[in-house]
Amino acid sequence: MRAKRRSLYLVAWAVALALMMAPEVGHAQIDEALTIQPIVVCDPSGGCATPSFDFGTMQQVFTSVWAQAGIAPVLLSPETLPMPIPTGQTGAMQVGLTTGADNIIPSPDGFRLLTRTAGNDQSTNPNTINLYIVNTLSPFVNGVPQSNQIARGISFINGNGIVIGSDAVLDTAAHELGHVLGLDHANFNNNSDPNNLMTGSPQGTRTIPTSINQIGPNGLDQLNATQIDRARQPLFTVGLGRVTSTPLSGEPCPSVDTCFNVSFAANPSVSETLNSIVFKYQAGDEGSPDGFELLPDEMGNIPNNVTHTFTSAGGSTILTVSFTPGTFGQGDSIDFGTFFTDILVDGPSDPISVIFNFAHGFASQAGFDAVTGADSGLGSFSFVGTPNYYVPGTCPNDPTTGKPSCFSARRPPSVRSSTSTQCRSHPPWLCSARGLWASGSCGGEDSP
Ligand SMILES: [Zn+2]
Repeated sequence: MRAKRRSLYLVAWAVALALMMAPEVGHAQIDEALTIQPIVVCDPSGGCATPSFDFGTMQQVFTSVWAQAGIAPVLLSPETLPMPIPTGQTGAMQVGLTTGADNIIPSPDGFRLLTRTAGNDQSTNPNTINLYIVNTLSPFVNGVPQSNQIARGISFINGNGIVIGSDAVLDTAAHELGHVLGLDHANFNNNSDPNNLMTGSPQGTRTIPTSINQIGPNGLDQLNATQIDRARQPLFTVGLGRVTSTPLSGEPCPSVDTCFNVSFAANPSVSETLNSIVFKYQAGDEGSPDGFELLPDEMGNIPNNVTHTFTSAGGSTILTVSFTPGTFGQGDSIDFGTFFTDILVDGPSDPISVIFNFAHGFASQAGFDAVTGADSGLGSFSFVGTPNYYVPGTCPNDPTTGKPSCFSARRPPSVRSSTSTQCRSHPPWLCSARGLWASGSCGGEDSP
């Protein structure tokens, strides 16, 4: 039964793959990420600036634009900054700004004051980009306000601060991130192409997307190969590890188990480690496991850096496999089995999604692929659509589907049979001793 089930999955996923791969151009895989800390600037009295787009939309734009470069920007949870009014300081950036309802930073150098003055809620991680949201940005030239100009966003090239105003357009923050990653308006082979992300005044005018689906290598906010090469230089980005979760059968998997191998691909340039893997099962699925066992590695050893918990949420069983921090990184691998503790029948269901929680605060989520396994989307097709990178714990279940809302893909229709027990013809005593399975007593039935 198991083999049949998997072959049907293969067909379903092959179709999904064909649909989703067709429009994909650009960088082959997402293998770098960076974090962005949104900071909403408020008056000391409490009035706060209003972002022109909600943070979910902002995240989608970041994701869509920067997937072209293989980079996943991750918005952290927003903070608010009650901003006292600084006075009497000027500098080169020539941009004043107002914050909240009544707080005006009178200096023409508000941008520098905001991003470079200590204590303004900057992330303690120097590689995190601080994204300030203010009400208005006011261009100055030589200290004189330019009432006929609008500034929607501002940033330093190669600096870790961005300020956007409440009149920012859909791609303003993504454009400013381009500056942060080293790009200017008309360099790196961009000759003010209106479809290029980095085109801006005074050299040219960029066509602003009005919806996210206009963004991409054949649409708006394009990045050319030279720009991508520059932006990928490791300034603020972290090289992401590739982790796969792959079905495992045969030795050392007991035949009543559903087993998996989890491997962190060897890549010496990746220092990222994995904190945990979260398997989520279909809500109400009676095939959800409640047993977990680590399997011996090739040397016969059982890993000692792994713990697990079973919890339930919204009718779904959730298996969390946790690693001692810093101990599961590039080149590491574990095998484990899931099973039913009360009755020994055929292996439990496969999960409907797998979440990989990385140490630096990145999470990625994959739909389960019963043929090749789920992986973090870094180089394999089994990630459905654009990989979803987000802050762990910020992806609530959709109330309708019961699945995490950051994960939009449909699960292939379930073909699990309620009669897929392997051992009903055997006397109960034979099936109740787990060790017998490993010795092959019932293993011969584990076939279509
Ligand atoms: Zn610009």
